[in-house]
Amino acid sequence: MTAEQLLYSKSAAARLLGVDLEEILDLQVWGTGIWVNIEGQRPRILSKKVFKQHFVDWRKAAARSLLVTPQVFARNTYTVRNETKETRYEVQLLSGCVTCTCEDFAKQRQVFKQGCCKHLYAALKFCGYGSLADYLNTQVAA
Ligand SMILES: [Zn+2]
Repeated sequence: MTAEQLLYSKSAAARLLGVDLEEILDLQVWGTGIWVNIEGQRPRILSKKVFKQHFVDWRKAAARSLLVTPQVFARNTYTVRNETKETRYEVQLLSGCVTCTCEDFAKQRQVFKQGCCKHLYAALKFCGYGSLADYLNTQVAA
């Protein structure tokens, strides 16, 4: 998995273009943008900036439906549940770094050294932070 594969995925393109995933026939990363070949349509080029913004916006939006519960016996540790999918992940907000037990976070950390999945966005919001940068800046200042 590379940063490009994570950021410029077919599923992101499908969401951005409002089409089904199966309709994205091909996607190529060009210097100028992302070339997307859509079934029955002319190929489109989307900017890298649009994909990068979507990467954050989509996770923030998904975070809204998650339930955050602070763990009683572990400091700075939260259980984040998705009741619809019946999944739960453990999030930790530590000094200078954050972690989540989900696959998305693991991929992001592997590629970007740090990451912020929807569970982390939910926990950060629960604790009153608007973004990961907000949280990390507070930690540095403290
Ligand atoms: Zn997560």
